[in-house]
This record gives sequence, structure tokens and C-alpha cells, in this order.
Amino acid sequence: MLYDVIIVGAGPAGVACAYMCKKKGLSYLLVESGKSVFQGIINTYPEGKKVYASKPKEMAGGFLVDELRPPDKPVTVEMYVQYVQHFVQHENLSIITEAEFQDIETHRGFFQVLTSKGGFKGKKVVLSFGNSIPRELTVYGDAKMVAKTLDDPKKYIGLRTLVIGGGNTAADVVISILKIKRQHNDSQPVYWAHVSETFDVNKETAQRLGEEILLGGNIRLLPGATPRIGEVDDEGIDRLVIRINEFKESDGIELYHAMSFPMKNVIACIGSQGSATLLDKLQIQTISCTEGICKVAKEGDRLVLLNSDFETTRKGIYMIGGAVSPSYMKVADGAIAEEKHPNLIYTAINDAASVVETIFSKLQTT
Ligand SMILES: Cc1cc2nc3c(=O)[nH]c(=O)nc-3n(C[C@H](O)[C@H](O)[C@H](O)COP(=O)(O)OP(=O)(O)OC[C@H]3O[C@@H](n4cnc5c(N)ncnc54)[C@H](O)[C@@H]3O)c2cc1C
Repeated sequence: MLYDVIIVGAGPAGVACAYMCKKKGLSYLLVESGKSVFQGIINTYPEGKKVYASKPKEMAGGFLVDELRPPDKPVTVEMYVQYVQHFVQHENLSIITEAEFQDIETHRGFFQVLTSKGGFKGKKVVLSFGNSIPRELTVYGDAKMVAKTLDDPKKYIGLRTLVIGGGNTAADVVISILKIKRQHNDSQPVYWAHVSETFDVNKETAQRLGEEILLGGNIRLLPGATPRIGEVDDEGIDRLVIRINEFKESDGIELYHAMSFPMKNVIACIGSQGSATLLDKLQIQTISCTEGICKVAKEGDRLVLLNSDFETTRKGIYMIGGAVSPSYMKVADGAIAEEKHPNLIYTAINDAASVVETIFSKLQTT
């Protein structure tokens, strides 16, 4: 099947894009790596977080796809996600989940989008994979088996679990696992490791963590712990070795304690990386910011180059939503300048509406 549009990533941008394609009568397929639409939001928002229909001050218009707009009176993320899941079902949007996007091949007259569930052909491609590509753990050996998100806390019941990372995301994962363990009378601890001596979480997250501990959560903190080696043991189990309590002796000898966890017990929440590596692989051009040129991005940041239709330098491939934020290099009227692109649901949805409009008129003329 040759689709008019293949959309990569089912966040607000991708779902809005699929819905607008349907409304315009374009054939499309929405490809999502997670188990559900809005997996990016499910993974990154703390439990119970309110979702705001925020709009950038400088933008005058409203949400271009009103059906996906968060309510004016903020609701919890769980309610918003549930609403969107029902909407996707009700509209019968064509989506394939648990399909990890890998690459795009150019053929005569179409693109082949390669995913972990096979290749899909499309005349145009919209990249809407957001900006939360989890950072990989870098250790000697392979640590690819280590989870980067918490898809199902129940998996960790009965297991001594290791969560790596010192920020709010790691803290939220710790809280969710403590909670499920408590609900199932599981006394196995959750180890929380961070390379620094201090953990850095906001007040609200710290409060929720405190509550979980007071309710009996079994947590062991491992500050100053460094993941070192990914290895396979004699029984063929992938393991992660993490050093704790390192002491460097003056004659070059190092003393340390280390713990070795089966990788299936480990979740590494060590932040996200920009899309630059993926864009290199896709041969989509980026520009590095130099001092004085960029106002939003920092010196050295690499910004994707897009025209005013959100088209990348690979013609027929578009990029929208959080993947483009917080700014990109816009080519317009023969000039290139940094363009602010706030990372909001509003921007993601409105990008989608305008990109489908562009694609629709281009496909009419070819
Ligand atoms: C904690 C937090 C709170 C926020 N609160 C608000 C708020 O209240 N109001 C607001 O307007 N904005 C808020 N934002 C920002 C808002 O969530 C983003 O702007 C919005 O989600 C961007 O939408 P998107 O569709 O571009 O990307 P995402 O929502 O990130 O969706 C991208 C999708 O692509 C999928 N994907 C990623 N990689 C691949 C791959 N290789 N293959 C296939 N699929 C892939 C992901 O699983 C995900 O489902 C918040 C953000 C955070 C982190």
C-alpha cells in the first residue's frame, strides 16, 4: 500500500496530523514506538500533573484542531490522555503501535519508512517524534537491554530494582515502583542511584516521594554511584555493574564496592538528547549556532533547517512539534534566521494542521 502520508510519532502533533489527513481524505499511517498514542506524554508527565491549554503570547490565533485542545479548566494528564485515546478510537485513526521508527529510504516517487515492524511506503513523511529521545547509558560493554522508560511498573514487583538518574523523571519512576510494590506487599527495595552526591528534584516531586517513603516504601539511595560495565554472566544474563563508594588511593589503586543488577531490573532516566544524531542519520541538514546568531538556542546547539512549510532539506519530509522546539533555522525569502518554536501542545497541533494543508495542496498538483 502506498500511503499519501506516513506520520512518525503519535503525540499531539502526530495525532492531529493523522486526524487532519483523515478529514482531508488523504491516506495515512501513524507510526508510534510506544504502546499507546501520547506515549511521550505518558512517559514524561508526573502522575496527576495538570495539563494547560497554554498559548505562546505572540500567537494570536486559537487551536487549529479544537478536538485535541486541552480543556480551559486544566484536567489531569491521565484524563487528557484517556480523552485522546477515546478520540483516536472513535475516529478510527490508522495507527500502528510498538513500531520504532528507524530510517527513511528514498525511492522513485515514494519514501520507504523503516520501522521495527517493517517498512511502510508514503508519498510524504511527517516527523513528529517529539524531543524526548531518551539518552543511552554509556558504559563499557553493551547496555542496550536497560529500560529508558517505565512502561509497566508491575514488571518490577518481586524484583530488586535499580533506577539511575538524579532528576524529576527518575524520581517519578522511583515513586511509581515504590507505590506498586507497596500495593502488592513486596518488600524488595528500589535502589536509586545518581552519579552526583545530591539528587535534584522539585518540591512537589520531593513531597510525593516523602509520602511514599512514610507509607512504607523501601528505598535505598546510592549517591555518587557510577554505572561502569555491561556484561553477560555465566548464565547468559545481561548485567549492569554499578560502582558505589569509590576511593582512589594515592598510588593509583582504587577501592570500591560494586553492585551487579540483571539489566531487566534497571531503568536509566538520565535525560533526553536532541534529535541531531537522528537527523544526521536521515541526512537532514542542521546548522550549528554560533555566538550572536541564536537567541533561543545556545552556542553549539544544532538546529534543524526548515522552510516556512516545515519541510526539511530532504524534500517531501516534514518535521513538526516538539521535535523542532525550542527553535529551528527557518529559510524564507532567501535568508536563514533562528525561529522560536515553543514546546507546547498548541504549537504541535497547529504545526500539524498547517503541514497537512501544505501536503494536501502539493498532492493535488502532482
Ligand atoms: C512534564 C511536562 C509537562 C508539560 N506540560 C504541558 C502543558 O501543561 N501544556 C502544554 O501545552 N505543553 C506541556 N508540555 C509540553 C508538551 O507536552 C509538548 O509540547 C508536546 O507533547 C509536544 O508534542 P509532540 O507530538 O511534538 O511530541 P511528543 O508529545 O513528545 O510525542 C512524540 C511521540 O513520538 C513517539 N516517538 C518517539 N520516537 C519515536 C520513534 N523512533 N519511532 C516511533 N515513535 C516515536 C513518542 O513515543 C511520542 O508518543 C509539557 C511537557 C513536559 C515534559
